[in-house]
Amino acid sequence: MAYIEPAPIKDKENPLESMMERFNLAAQKLGLSEEVYNVLKNPAKQVIVSLPITMDNGKIKVFEGIRVIHSNILGPAKGGIRFAPDVHLDEVRALAAWMTWKCAVVDIPYGGGKGGVRCNPREMSAGEIERLVRAYTLAMIDVFGPDKDIPAPDMGTGPREMAWLMDEYSKAHGMTVNAVVTGKPLVLGGSLGRTEATGRGVMVTALAAMQKLKINPFQATCAVQGFGNVGSWAAQLLEERGLKVVSISDISGAYYNSNGINIQEAIAYRDGNKGTLEGYQGAEKLSNPMELLELEVDVLVPAAVEDVITIGNADKIKAKLIVEGANGPTSAKADAILNEKGIMAVPDILANAGGVTVSYFEWVQNRLGYKWTAERVNRRSDRIMKDAFDHVYQAAVKYDVPMRIAAYIVAIDKVAKTYTFRGGF
Ligand code: NAD
Repeated sequence: MAYIEPAPIKDKENPLESMMERFNLAAQKLGLSEEVYNVLKNPAKQVIVSLPITMDNGKIKVFEGIRVIHSNILGPAKGGIRFAPDVHLDEVRALAAWMTWKCAVVDIPYGGGKGGVRCNPREMSAGEIERLVRAYTLAMIDVFGPDKDIPAPDMGTGPREMAWLMDEYSKAHGMTVNAVVTGKPLVLGGSLGRTEATGRGVMVTALAAMQKLKINPFQATCAVQGFGNVGSWAAQLLEERGLKVVSISDISGAYYNSNGINIQEAIAYRDGNKGTLEGYQGAEKLSNPMELLELEVDVLVPAAVEDVITIGNADKIKAKLIVEGANGPTSAKADAILNEKGIMAVPDILANAGGVTVSYFEWVQNRLGYKWTAERVNRRSDRIMKDAFDHVYQAAVKYDVPMRIAAYIVAIDKVAKTYTFRGGF
């Protein structure tokens, strides 16, 4: 019998509600009218589809697919596709809004979107996943488009899935349309520099913040939580800029070396060790991995999962600067404690926007039919990230608010002004 899997109920503090709390605060500071507030709060389009897929055992199973366009005021929607067992509409709506603010903060001509399919890709064969991606693409054929809505990878999807999406979309249109999706393999029009882009943006905004705080990178220490794409690139690039990375962590635990960890060596170890730091000998293992967050360091980079800095530990944080590589690592309630302690937090929607910035470059290159060098990609994304940091910093001074609220102010102001110029019905 065909069926749709029910979504499990989440019981932990919700980072997306935390995001809305900050949105509301920024809207208030900005004096946003109620009309515009309501326009920005509600998603522009929500599509839910049923996707019947023939599984390897010959049986048909129906999956639920969602795509939400939160806003297309600044341009086509941009946002990833999540394949996970707990995907549900509320979450996708919030993640789509998150993308609107992120794109607006770095001033790229995109709105925000997000998609998801409720499934467990770990329990599916490559063939089943391919059929699901293709079915989802066809079901969304009128939603997606290089000028309408441009998906990308998110949890549970990667370059392989984006290649199938691009192929299916292209077949349906009778021509190659690689600008319909980003995060593609390089040979299909992916961009050089995309892999390191998010970690690189973390590095650029961290250095800009250190300059404001008068922290000399060559005398600064740093701890990085999460050693995947974002964390390991951020650690490596910060180390290259002179910081001593004294602690790193991943799902296997946290590792500490007061003399500094050799990041290249740690990456090589991870790559030869099934992707984890388990058993890493270049540092001592901390008894509790959460200790990493409370170390006496200058810079703390949470780059693993959401909701790790909470009212439970915010008062124990000793770093002078937090740069959020992950999405939603700090709860709204923890914000107040960090502010009181005078800790600057470069918020996620600014600090990790290097990824979507280079995705934008991928789309630009696809539309130009041209390939940029890694050097050009890095130079341009560094400039965008630095400009965005300066812009947010100026707003923080002008409105006398923390960097996080300032980032929301910059984003909301941009979308609201554009909306007002474009006019409603
Ligand atoms: P990833 O899967 O490559 O790496 C995640 C890392 O975190 C792994 O090292 C994993 O072992 C570790 N980890 C998982 N749970 C942990 C825990 N409880 N404590 C410590 N470490 C833990 O993922 P990623 O692409 O690096 O993404 C990390 C975060 O950055 C996510 O919040 C993601 O949404 C955000 N982000 C990623 C990008 C991007 O371009 N990859 C862009 C923007 C935001």
